[in-house]
Amino acid sequence: MEFGFRNLQNVTIGVNRGPLSLVPSYLHMLLQTTSLRSLHLYCPGDEIIQRRFEHVDNSVLKGLIEALSAFRYLQELAISISPGHAKNPDNAHLDPLMRLTRLESVSFTGVDFGLTDAVIQRLISAWGKLKKFHFVHYSDRAPSVSLAILRSFAVYTPKLEDLRVNLDATCVPSRDYGSVTASVLPVHMDFDCSPIQMLSDPRQVAEYIANIYPHAILQKTHTNDPCFKAGCTYCDTWKQVGETIATLSA
Ligand SMILES: [Zn+2]
Repeated sequence: MEFGFRNLQNVTIGVNRGPLSLVPSYLHMLLQTTSLRSLHLYCPGDEIIQRRFEHVDNSVLKGLIEALSAFRYLQELAISISPGHAKNPDNAHLDPLMRLTRLESVSFTGVDFGLTDAVIQRLISAWGKLKKFHFVHYSDRAPSVSLAILRSFAVYTPKLEDLRVNLDATCVPSRDYGSVTASVLPVHMDFDCSPIQMLSDPRQVAEYIANIYPHAILQKTHTNDPCFKAGCTYCDTWKQVGETIATLSA
């Protein structure tokens, strides 16, 4: 197959789980296109295939990310894989994306990479132009990201406007650290059903966030779907945290 689209800027690919493994070679064929700015990839669920094979092979995801990392001018990357299709991939698979230093928007939906503070910090240290960081998944695995990651975002991604990530806010990190220049931007944050300390006053969490992002706006990205977990007790607390931050900045 020959591609004559030298000036191609935006590509959207919708693909079932089976042919997903062919996408990296398709991307390699596109490589002569240095103009690519945005790539969206959707891999919806296929009930029959899902039951028989269950998961996207991790090597497929690894190959896909490796292939994507060759598009050095990419500004926007969005990958959405039907929940349950990608089984706990290695977060090291994300490392090639550090080559995409022009990224302004990165969004992964349905894949639990097992992110940690160290992994996120490593990635965003290369993404100084980043405005949007969304890693959304619905697995039951406890998040290994802490509230302290906000400090890294403030340091490495001064243009950040939109953050969606699962983290563990049951512990509020010590504020005994070097000075962080508080962002003056109104950053939208959505922590979904992230665990948060329930016993003490959620004001501690609010104050920690407001100290770094005084104009943080905590709101659900999908207002019609306030909580995806049955019996979740965290979302109401996050709402309180958002209201408290608004009060603090008033
Ligand atoms: Zn919830």
